[in-house]
This record gives sequence, C-alpha cells and structure tokens, in this order.
Amino acid sequence: MKPVIYVTRKIPEKVLKPYRSHFDVRMWEAADEPVPRDVLLKEIQDADGLLCLLTEQIDRELLEHGEKLKIVANMAVGFDNVDVAAAKERGVMVTNTPDVLTDTTADLTFALLMAAARRIVEASEYIKSNAWENWSPYLLAGADVHHKTIGIVGMGRIGQAVAKRAKGFDMHVMYHARSRKPDAEREIGAVYKAFDELLAESDFVVCLVPLTNQTADLFNREAFRKMKNSAVFVNVSRGGTVDEDALYDALTKGEIRAAGLDVFKGEPIGAEHPLVQLDNVAALPHIGSASEETRSKMLTLCLDNVTAVFNGEKPLTPVSTQ
Ligand code: NAP
Repeated sequence: MKPVIYVTRKIPEKVLKPYRSHFDVRMWEAADEPVPRDVLLKEIQDADGLLCLLTEQIDRELLEHGEKLKIVANMAVGFDNVDVAAAKERGVMVTNTPDVLTDTTADLTFALLMAAARRIVEASEYIKSNAWENWSPYLLAGADVHHKTIGIVGMGRIGQAVAKRAKGFDMHVMYHARSRKPDAEREIGAVYKAFDELLAESDFVVCLVPLTNQTADLFNREAFRKMKNSAVFVNVSRGGTVDEDALYDALTKGEIRAAGLDVFKGEPIGAEHPLVQLDNVAALPHIGSASEETRSKMLTLCLDNVTAVFNGEKPLTPVSTQ
C-alpha cells in the first residue's frame, strides 16, 4: 500500500508525475479556489501526508482529524498558517520552502519598492484611463531610489537578497533583526540599527520578518509616526505585521509618503479595501514568489520533503521555531 497524500490545490501533472509511483495522490481539483474546510477535514482522515498552501489553516482541529498524518508540507517559507506546536505534540513533521523562493521574492520586493517610489502603478492607471493630455515638469514625479537609505526589518534570506539589490542602486543599507549579520555587514556594508533608529533614519522601510506573536502589528501607529514624512513603506512579509488602520491614517495624513503592499490582513481583499483605494499605495495580490519557475521549485521541494519522510529520512527543510 502506497502512502496517501492529499494536495489541497490542483498542481501541474508535470510536477507531480515523478512522484506518482511513490504515493497515492488525492487532490482538490480546482486550480484557483481553496479546498472548503469541510472537504479538507474529511480528506485528512485517511491521508498520511498533506501538501497545503497558505490559504489553509492547519490548526489543532484539523490535525486531530488526521490520525494517520505524518507530514504537513506547506508550500511557503512562512508557516504562520500552521499550528507547529500542535503538530509537534502529535509527532507530525512540518516543512516549508525556504531558499528556492528567496531571489524571486527579493526581485518582487525591489520592484514594489520602485513602483511605490516612482508611482509606476498610478502612472500606468493614468495613461490607461486616458488622463494624459500634457507633459509637465512634475507630472507624476516620485521619489528617487538611488543613493537613498533603505531600512530592512527582518534581515534573513530574503532581507539579505534585497540588500544586495539595494547595493546595486547605490543605496545605504540599514537593517534590524534579532541577531547581527556579520557577513552582510562585511560584504554589503549593511549597518545594524535598533528598530526605532531604523524607522527614523530610513527613506524606505521594508518589512521581511515572519509573522509571529512578536511581530504581529509590529508596524503600528507609533512606528509610522517615527518614520520620515517622506518615507516609503514596503511590506512583503505578511499582512498581520501591520496595523492597517494606522497605515491608512499615516498615508492619508502625510505621516509617510507611500506604501508598496504585497500582503494584507484577511486575504483575499477587494477594490473596496481602504488601502487599495489610495493613489499612494501600490498593491499586489500576494505574488512575492510568483514566477513560474519558482512556484514549480516550491512544489517540488514539498514533494521531496514528503518523499523523504516516507523513506524514513529527515525532510530537507523542516520548519524551525526559535
Ligand atoms: P528568514 O530567513 O527566517 O528571515 C526572517 C528574518 O526576520 C530574520 O532575519 C529574523 O531575525 C527576523 N526576525 C524574526 N523575528 C523577528 C523579530 N521579532 N524582530 C526582528 N526581526 C525578526 O525568512 P525569509 O526566508 O527571509 O522569509 C521572511 C518572510 O517573508 C517569511 O516568513 C514570509 O512571511 C515572507 N514571505 C512572503 C512572500 C510573499 O509572497 N509575499 C514570499 C516569501 C516569504 P534573525 O535572523 O535574527 O533570527
């Protein structure tokens, strides 16, 4: 009998094919819609492994339904959707997809920073809505990126990859994390700052921490007040790291200049979301790691992790909670 793995979204056959001989694969057959909770609760009952996305809450109730479950392979580097402590209690391994998405997410972070600074989304909307009648000296003039100061909050894999990109734009790089990064300090010239100092001194504040109890609403009213009035805030972490009402007020009262947001609380959100309605917000639907190549690598890594566990080996990328 092959182990049964349940996959919570339709994934391409070309990615799955090499693994079909190892597992009995069951799958939610919709590509664009998450599996309904009641279906997942039922399917998990005879699954030995689960390949899930960040749209699924892998909580205690779900884990209790999965009596045979040995591994939860989460197709994301963030794992705030998984109750890792409850999984550990039940002897269920949890894996994520670090590294394979680092450069792709760093590229997107930098693109969003530039879009917010140079008003690229707003300018595109301007021409598409037929508003372009004249050229004028300050038409859609934004803020420079080159030679400015970037403050990266969360100087891990992606944060350091963003710092390298910033260096290419002759930016001064500051960072904040729980620990110092001697390699980045030496190689990129990144300067460690206390959180409040980083907020006060940065032209661009970029959030790349994981969502945890310590980072929930890290960017609150006080944080936005400490930033320069000319600051651009970029969030590619998780929506939960930001008090969105405070961000809205900061953007509308001129406490900061603009924001680039890839993530929101309560995703998916719609056009009626207050932040999306602001001209000085460039908004994206959580596409940080969304290149075709990287999404396939993330799925393959999930499947390799599942394979390792059923071969009695250590998974390649177990999550670590410090
Ligand atoms: P990582 O290598 O684990 O880096 C996380 C960084 O955050 C580390 O530098 C860590 O500090 C720092 N950190 C953690 N808790 C902190 C706290 N309380 N205060 C200050 N710094 C703290 O993770 P990664 O691979 O770079 O990914 C980062 C996050 O990006 C993920 O967790 C995920 O939420 C998000 N992400 C989003 C997308 C997207 O599509 N939008 C794609 C990929 C990732 P230490 O180094 O000192 O431990």
